[in-house]
Amino acid sequence: MIEIDGAFGEGGGQIIRTSLSLSAITGEPVHIRNVRANRDKPGLLRQHLTALNAVTDICGGRADGAKLGSREITLYPGSIRAGAYQFAVGSAGSANLVLQTVLPVLMHAEAQSEVTLQGGTHNPSSPPFDFLAESFLPVIRTLGFNAEERLNAYGFYPAGGGEIQMTVKGRSELKAADWVERGDETSRTVEAMISNLPGDIARRELSTVARELGLDRERDCRIRTPDSIGPGNALIGRLGYGDRTTVFVQFGERNVSSEQVAKRLAKQMKSFIGSSAAVDHHLADQLLLPMALAKGGVFSTTRPSQHALTNAEVIAKFTGRKITFHEDAGRTICEVR
Ligand code: AMP
Repeated sequence: MIEIDGAFGEGGGQIIRTSLSLSAITGEPVHIRNVRANRDKPGLLRQHLTALNAVTDICGGRADGAKLGSREITLYPGSIRAGAYQFAVGSAGSANLVLQTVLPVLMHAEAQSEVTLQGGTHNPSSPPFDFLAESFLPVIRTLGFNAEERLNAYGFYPAGGGEIQMTVKGRSELKAADWVERGDETSRTVEAMISNLPGDIARRELSTVARELGLDRERDCRIRTPDSIGPGNALIGRLGYGDRTTVFVQFGERNVSSEQVAKRLAKQMKSFIGSSAAVDHHLADQLLLPMALAKGGVFSTTRPSQHALTNAEVIAKFTGRKITFHEDAGRTICEVR
């Protein structure tokens, strides 16, 4: 049985999600104590509990401690079964993070699977659906994993009510990653999503961000007004380099002006534009697991985040894969051996 201390390093949900995926894939039982010890509300939240239940179901295993608030859990995995699965977070908790937990597991099934997840699709502190669809999944496909996604309903925090669906077709020939040089900038656009809120918010955000980033308001900026059960405002920035897209997000918040939200997004994008990294720091921590399950490889990123350093240790513990980070002319080179 693999022992994981959930308090080490970043001490959050990713330690749990990566451990669950890898326990199911390797067939090694895992015992995790101090679940999410470094968070304000430690223990399993709905999102993590849904991930635990989903992985247990998909691998026909058994779990101890599968309840809300649990600070100690054990997964005894069985064998992974392809199928049609449906899971509901039961709150606005991130459906995308649950999906990222079950995806590597289903990629190891013998046949194609269909998975539907209900919950939040656009939440703070997690990848929004657009990031998953345009940034994460395209690189996963380059590694040789086949998965197609669909957004059936938008779910903004805190109301939720979103639904995403994914077809996981298993694997073709697996490849090593090589994303060191990012290529020339091919596009720079911003989209303001607004649902059940005054349209003026989106217009002010775009005016500010266009000015900050030197964008043409007509050509490079657009407003999207999706239906959802609650209010929501997400400002999504996209930078194209070569054939890859990097996705950035800022969410509208109470007591934060539209101009402020726009300036935060512009700052984030300018910082990436000014670096020579190929992979942003969020994608960097999320790439480690799929790369370790494929043929490893190398990429450049801005800086090694606590999420990446911690995830690297969890992955090494289950797989023996060595993941290194070293500084190179103002950026970080990450190698998965
Ligand atoms: P944790 O805090 O441990 O639950 O992990 C959160 C995960 O969400 C990490 O993989 C982060 O990289 C990812 N994440 C947080 N914010 C964003 C964002 N704005 N865009 C993409 N991914 C994000």
